[in-house]
Amino acid sequence: MASVSDFNSPHNITWCPGCGDFGILVALKGAFAKLGLSPHNVVVVSGIGCGGKIPHFIRTYGFEGIHGRALPAATGIHLANHELTVVAIGGDGDGCGIGLGHFMHAMRRNLDITYIIQDNEIYGLTVGQASPTTKKGVITKSTPHGTPEDPINPPLVALAAGATFVARGFSGDIPHLTDLIAKGIAHRGVAFIDVFQPCVTWRKDLPYELYQKKIYKLEEVGHDPSDWQAAVKRAIETERWPIGIFYQVQKPIYTDQIPFIKDKPLVKHDISNIDISKYLEEFM
Ligand code: SF4
Repeated sequence: MASVSDFNSPHNITWCPGCGDFGILVALKGAFAKLGLSPHNVVVVSGIGCGGKIPHFIRTYGFEGIHGRALPAATGIHLANHELTVVAIGGDGDGCGIGLGHFMHAMRRNLDITYIIQDNEIYGLTVGQASPTTKKGVITKSTPHGTPEDPINPPLVALAAGATFVARGFSGDIPHLTDLIAKGIAHRGVAFIDVFQPCVTWRKDLPYELYQKKIYKLEEVGHDPSDWQAAVKRAIETERWPIGIFYQVQKPIYTDQIPFIKDKPLVKHDISNIDISKYLEEFM
């Protein structure tokens, strides 16, 4: 059985000291170890952004895609071999900006994958522009008079799109986040986890202390995760910020409904006797 250190990458981590991405990385490795997963059975897929570098910093199979496209790549990998554990991960700009359509479709399909948004409410890699989750009125480099738009609420999007596991964690509470990610991966169906991830460089107005002051845990207030309407009410709270599992139900997963791959992953089918020359001719 693999330990946390088995997931350590030899590459130097380039995030700013204190970045919330460190907590997510530690929690992700901890969740893999907690579930007894081996590095060769896990694929971490990202888009572009500070957090998009995470496949380099963890020793599993990995794929760093293009901006907003972590989920299409993760979907393809999962459909090719659904025996692998596939985790897609990316920032709020990546998933709620250019990748928003992919986010919603992945949720409604109930693919058995996990999707994590590193939600720091800013475009960090491109040095501090307002992102889709930046709250109205916040001053950033691209919004010197305050952001004029209302933000996207990622857990609410996931709930509206039909996700069967919706949660939120905080990168400053690694044991809680580790447990949440492990539960998301263990969930049979799509698991979405929004993670509060302080950007210590471009969002100094959103420090760890503010999150700690505002956050409370759903499991400590008797929240019922099988109640969709209760989950929506928690997701739209603004005065206090709930973390934990908002919603979890079981529904048929995508691959169980595709006869050809239901019992055997695509990569394990024998294709040696299939003649594809007539299809190739179309492109010649
Ligand atoms: Fe992290 Fe922000 Fe630095 Fe990017 S810019 S590495 S999000 S602290």
